[in-house]
Amino acid sequence: MQADCYICFRPIDYTLRSPNPYSFVIDETIPLARGGTLTHDNSGPAHRWCNAIKGTHSLAWARDRVAWLIAHGQAPQHDTTPSASTPIRCSNWFGGGE
Ligand SMILES: [Zn+2]
Repeated sequence: MQADCYICFRPIDYTLRSPNPYSFVIDETIPLARGGTLTHDNSGPAHRWCNAIKGTHSLAWARDRVAWLIAHGQAPQHDTTPSASTPIRCSNWFGGGE
């Protein structure tokens, strides 16, 4: 499976390994601490960095937060993937009405 990150929607380089911030992790949509379970519906592919930002927050919160950090140049640099500068369209993420 080569799915994109479900938090920032950017591609995941599955050849990267921890502790690279863009290495692949399985995120729990609803943290176990909040009653989530380790089922397929409650998890998704994510970057290590995005997963760390999300922490125990909601998925919606994490998507907003990660989008903000990327828009403000505060995301870790992709030094191993030169063509990873996928355009980020924040308007799509906030309902497009702003
Ligand atoms: Zn991500």
